[in-house]
Amino acid sequence: MKSISILYPKVSAESWAKTYGLIVKSHSCYNCGKNLVANVPFATKRWRGLISPKHECGESYDFSTAVEIDQDDEILWKDFYYNIKEIL
Ligand SMILES: [Zn+2]
Repeated sequence: MKSISILYPKVSAESWAKTYGLIVKSHSCYNCGKNLVANVPFATKRWRGLISPKHECGESYDFSTAVEIDQDDEILWKDFYYNIKEIL
């Protein structure tokens, strides 16, 4: 479990956004100008967010929006991890 730094839960962007008070946003890539829509739910231990799908410019150009969650809540994180595992 400690080796997992980022998770991509298979839930809709809409429900993820609603759960964490996120807004699905778009942004032009600084490198290629492509319109990137941050609509892929992701989670790390500290953050819940939405990130744009991978494209040819590489992950440093991905556009994301995220909120910080209560990092002290280990129990919440464990529950979350198991929930993710069930739907992956
Ligand atoms: Zn690009």
